[in-house]
Amino acid sequence: MLAEKIRDAKSVVIFTGAGMSTESGLPDFRSSHGVWQNVNPSEVATIEALNNNVTQFFEFYRTRVLGVREYQPNQGHYILAKWANEGLVSTIITQNVDGFHTAAGAPEVLELHGTLRTVHCQTCGKKYSNVMYEKQTYYCQCGGTLRPSVVLFGEFLDEHVMFKATVKSEKSTIFIVLGSSLTVSPANYFPELAKQHGAYLVIVNAEPTPLDAIADEVIQHERIGAFLTRMDEEITQLRKQR
Ligand SMILES: [Zn+2]
Repeated sequence: MLAEKIRDAKSVVIFTGAGMSTESGLPDFRSSHGVWQNVNPSEVATIEALNNNVTQFFEFYRTRVLGVREYQPNQGHYILAKWANEGLVSTIITQNVDGFHTAAGAPEVLELHGTLRTVHCQTCGKKYSNVMYEKQTYYCQCGGTLRPSVVLFGEFLDEHVMFKATVKSEKSTIFIVLGSSLTVSPANYFPELAKQHGAYLVIVNAEPTPLDAIADEVIQHERIGAFLTRMDEEITQLRKQR
């Protein structure tokens, strides 16, 4: 029984993708904001755009920041945060940039692609809240350009975050994927690594993934929030029985 396995596991690592946040109602920026419908993110969300087409860059990310500020973490985020604070979950690794895990109270979230919750100065590195973008304040006190703290196309992922995620994946005894299609690298790298090091691999995703074949459990027909709620209830029951 999975709940029992989670309760008894030495190290549970959670890995979340876009499916985790769609349950918050957070729409894909393309569907909600017509202006950007014909714009390719790989053209505006780049380091080149930041340098050469900064007006469009600011407008694009302001739209995305406003989107994230408009929505909240869902029940699934809160259950994971609770588990992490109780020590039931060792680490949350996420592909999402909405910052919902942190907003829900989870400690030490490994955000592979950064976060839209903060912006920072491209020159001096000073951090600011994303309210700056909401207020259309795009420049630091030092005169440098404020950019969202996400990994842009053309930039490398944070080495420190990658290293931590690698170590945590290797050490995990249960690795649970929530709402990721596992098609983009390095998303597919971590569950595979965990499995190679002997973890029990669980994939909860509405669609099949390329790693279903090596997973110990694949759950397709239950929403993530419902799955986590069920697990949380079962774990609570198990604790009462002891
Ligand atoms: Zn600065």
